Amino acid sequence: MIQIKNPEQIKAMKEAGRITAEGMAIAIENVREGVSTKHLDKLIREYYEKCGARPSFLHYGGFPASACISVNDEVIHGIPSSSRILQEGDIVKIDVGAFYHGYHGDMARTIAVGKVSDEAKLLIDVTKQSFYEGIAQLKPGNRLGDLGYAVDSYVKKFGFSTVKRYVGHGIGQSVHESPDVPNYGTPGRGVRVCVGMVIAVEPMVNVGTDEVRELSDGWTVKTADGKLSAHYENTVAILPDEVLILTQV
Ligand code: MG
Repeated sequence: MIQIKNPEQIKAMKEAGRITAEGMAIAIENVREGVSTKHLDKLIREYYEKCGARPSFLHYGGFPASACISVNDEVIHGIPSSSRILQEGDIVKIDVGAFYHGYHGDMARTIAVGKVSDEAKLLIDVTKQSFYEGIAQLKPGNRLGDLGYAVDSYVKKFGFSTVKRYVGHGIGQSVHESPDVPNYGTPGRGVRVCVGMVIAVEPMVNVGTDEVRELSDGWTVKTADGKLSAHYENTVAILPDEVLILTQV
């Protein structure tokens, strides 16, 4: 069932979203060559705890860290590690959430480490813009198929593909709620968009095919063809006359 949020709940979710984004901003500032993904994870955790929040993903389904940090051909759910050292030319995806006063935020960014290839730069830009193409469709009365179609058709123009196996989601008192928010779809089909819906919109975009595989660590998801992947996510609330991004950074 889709949990529609009242203005009071959306206000509380703004706070969770703000803290989520502030932790992300600290991690982004610290992305550079020579830094381990574990170090970024630690900075995020320390910031959330300082705010009286809890990292949403820590122990979620058994996940062993506060943030999912995935590099290059890793799509999502990478486990931070002290032996994973960022190198110039890498692209790093940070996916985090903070749980604060009963509500979760959820967001992801893809950051270039130093100078990256033109292809990587384009992928990062297209993935971010595909999010905006998608949320432009979040008008009350539209359907989630309109959003999915907008994301997918934008990405295809560049010869890239959207990941189909993993999707966005409703969010609130649980980090993953109904409905699913796919990054593909048919216009006019799917769940109807309505005021008070709060969802995490999160295009995952591959340079090559949309096929992915899970590693034996039980978490890390990589592109099947070994090509680059990017991720961009925000928690957004559908209000009567606008779509409000709760995880702005
Ligand atoms: Mg998410």
